[in-house]
Amino acid sequence: MTHQILVTGGAGYIGSHAVHHLIDHGYQPVVLDDFSTGRHEAIPEGTPLYEGNVGDPHLLATVFSEQNITAVMHFAGSIVVPESVTNPGKYYANNTGNTLMLLTAMAKAGVSRLVFSSTAAVYGNPDAKFIPIVEDNPTEPINPYGMSKLMSERMIADMTTAHDMSAVVLRYFNVAGADMKGRVGQSTPDATHLIKIATQVLTGQRDGMSIFGTDYDTPDGTCIRDYIHIDDLIAAHLLALDHLIKGGENLTLNCGYGHGFSVKEVITAINALGEGEINVTLADRRDGDPARLIADSSACRNRLGWTPRHDDLTTIVRSALAWEKSRQ
Ligand code: UDP
Repeated sequence: MTHQILVTGGAGYIGSHAVHHLIDHGYQPVVLDDFSTGRHEAIPEGTPLYEGNVGDPHLLATVFSEQNITAVMHFAGSIVVPESVTNPGKYYANNTGNTLMLLTAMAKAGVSRLVFSSTAAVYGNPDAKFIPIVEDNPTEPINPYGMSKLMSERMIADMTTAHDMSAVVLRYFNVAGADMKGRVGQSTPDATHLIKIATQVLTGQRDGMSIFGTDYDTPDGTCIRDYIHIDDLIAAHLLALDHLIKGGENLTLNCGYGHGFSVKEVITAINALGEGEINVTLADRRDGDPARLIADSSACRNRLGWTPRHDDLTTIVRSALAWEKSRQ
C-alpha cells in the first residue's frame, strides 16, 4: 500500500525537497501550500495539490476527507528571525496558531502521525557549557520565531497525549544547500539566510552582503552555526516517518552535524570554490541572533539510525551555488 503523506508548505524550500524525496522512497505526497513564498515549479507534476492556508479548518477537513492520509509533515510557517522580532503576531499566527488548527483537524479526522519542523531557536542563546546542545537543555527562546515553535512543540505534546496521536519533532539547525539531484533548491523570495545570500552575491544577483556582528564571544567574533545539508535533513524526516508508521513513540531530536562554522568561515569556504570573491561589509549585530548554536545529534543518530551523507561545508556551499547558477 502506498502511504499518502500530507506535506504542508510542500512548495517551499524544505517542503519541496521532502516531496521529491518522498516520491523517491515510494510514498505519495499530497501538498498543501498557500504560495506565500512557495513556487508551483517546485512541485512535481501529478502531485495532488491543495492551494490554501494550514489555518483554514474547512480546507483541512476537505483534504482529510478526500485523501487517505497516513501522516503529516508540517513545514508551512514563517521562518525569518529578524522579522519575528518586528512582527511577532505573524509568527504566533502562522506558526503557533496554524499548528493548533492542524492538530485539531488531525485529531478530528483520526490522522494520528506528525513530523514537525522545529528549530534550534527554541534553545535561545545557550550558555557555552551547553554547547553542543542536547535536547533536554534549557529552552529559552530569545526571539518570537523560537517561541512560536516552542509553543507548538508544547501543543503537540499535549494533543498527541490526549488524542492518541504520535509525533516526531525535529529541531533544525541551519539548513542549507540544494537537492543533490538538482531538482529543487532554495528559491524563497527575499531570502535572508547566509549561504543563500552569499551565493546570490557570487552569481551577481546582489552587489554585496553584510556580516552581522563581529564582536560576538567566538574565536573570530562572528556567529557560529551548525549547517546541515538539506538532503540529510530530509533523510531524518523519512526515518521519522518510518518510526511513526511502525508505531514508535514521540521523539524530539536535534538535526545538525555536531560542529559549527563562523560566518567568516562560511564566506571563506564560498570564496574557495573559485568562482569569485564575495563583496562583504562588516555591520552591526542583527536582532535576535545567538552567538553559537551547535547540535548534539546523537539522539537522532541513535533513535532513528540517521547517518549524514553530506557533512562537509564545501559540499553544502557547492550545491547551493550550483542551484543558484542553474536558475540563471
Ligand atoms: N548572516 C550574516 N549576513 C547575512 C545573513 C546572515 O552575517 O546576510 C549571519 C547571521 O547574523 C547569523 C548567521 O549568518 O549569525 C546565520 O544566519 P541565517 O539567517 O542564515 O540563519 P539563522 O541562524 O538566523 O536561522
